[in-house]
Amino acid sequence: MNQTTAYVAYNRDSAIRQASSSGGIFTALASHIIAQGGVVFGACFDDGFQVVHRKMETIDDLAACRGSKYVKSDLGDSYQQAKASLQQGVPVLFTGTPCQIAGLYAYLDRAYHNLYTHDFICHGVPLPAVWNRYLSHIQKEGACLCQLSHRDKIEGWKRFSLSRGYDDGTYIHQTLDKDPYLQAFLSDLCLLPSCYHCPHKGLHRPADLTLADAWGAEHYAPHWDDDLGLSLILIHSPKGQSLLEAMAPHIAMEGVDIHQASRYNPSLTQSAPVHPNGKRFLSDLDTYPFPQAVARNAKRPLAHRILRRLRHII
Ligand SMILES: Cc1cc2nc3c(=O)[nH]c(=O)nc-3n(C[C@H](O)[C@H](O)[C@H](O)COP(=O)(O)OP(=O)(O)OC[C@H]3O[C@@H](n4cnc5c(N)ncnc54)[C@H](O)[C@@H]3O)c2cc1C
Repeated sequence: MNQTTAYVAYNRDSAIRQASSSGGIFTALASHIIAQGGVVFGACFDDGFQVVHRKMETIDDLAACRGSKYVKSDLGDSYQQAKASLQQGVPVLFTGTPCQIAGLYAYLDRAYHNLYTHDFICHGVPLPAVWNRYLSHIQKEGACLCQLSHRDKIEGWKRFSLSRGYDDGTYIHQTLDKDPYLQAFLSDLCLLPSCYHCPHKGLHRPADLTLADAWGAEHYAPHWDDDLGLSLILIHSPKGQSLLEAMAPHIAMEGVDIHQASRYNPSLTQSAPVHPNGKRFLSDLDTYPFPQAVARNAKRPLAHRILRRLRHII
């Protein structure tokens, strides 16, 4: 297969779709692999809300992996564990950022018929050190954080919001205009240095499938745009195509023009631009409370904003 094809899709199970960042395609994919006796590797929060890659062996395990975590995930020994499963002939779905998937193929250094991979269109991943500063900022006297979502859809899929719950019953939900962590992430203040010069951009990828938010679907597939979460799926290989066919009973989907779809998702082909205040933001975190450090730095100077707009137009 030398041509990447594209689909918009969502999971027919509305609870899974609601709990997922886009259309819930990861869960459909992972459930199929587990039903085949396979295992799935993906990013979960641990008990301290650090993001770590874990092996999942049951459908119930998948809940922890559902939803985007906007922090670099610690792979631990997941490449080694995946290799051991592959050598035993177990079907393996490995999921992660484009660089994590490229790293897996480099580590394995040979093809496995039982390996399946999905990456996603990646804006870039924030530094864990910044995430830890935010976690300290949201500590609550006398209560423990027990739930957190970086992509709560309570106000719709298109309205980015972060929600958190504490064991005293408090629940806080903040949209992008209020939440300083989402602001730092989406204004490119705190990505890993390598994300600003990512070599894994482009339409064609080593992964079998790429998942993404179907941003701009209102322009190229308007009848699918209900603001409940819509995925864009890019298929790169015959294995990816076979996974799509296996998922078909559980998802609603339609083929779309790949060039139209990719126009609305610049992170497919472009790295996030370096933020001129990035270094100052990191040092401000030592001096100012988290929200003030973001407020002082998030806005780019006018010249940068004009250049950015021009870049998008071009
Ligand atoms: C850091 C980050 C940046 C993203 N940037 C974009 C973007 O610019 N444009 C776009 O269209 N989509 C982006 N996405 C992808 C998108 O938000 C959805 O994750 C994707 O479409 C899958 O959605 P889903 O509803 O099918 O499944 P979900 O259940 O929402 O996604 C779960 C999948 O995401 C993986 N995952 C979650 N967090 C991480 C992490 N920190 N590291 C590695 N893997 C992780 C899980 O392992 C699992 O495979 C990004 C995701 C992340 C985590």
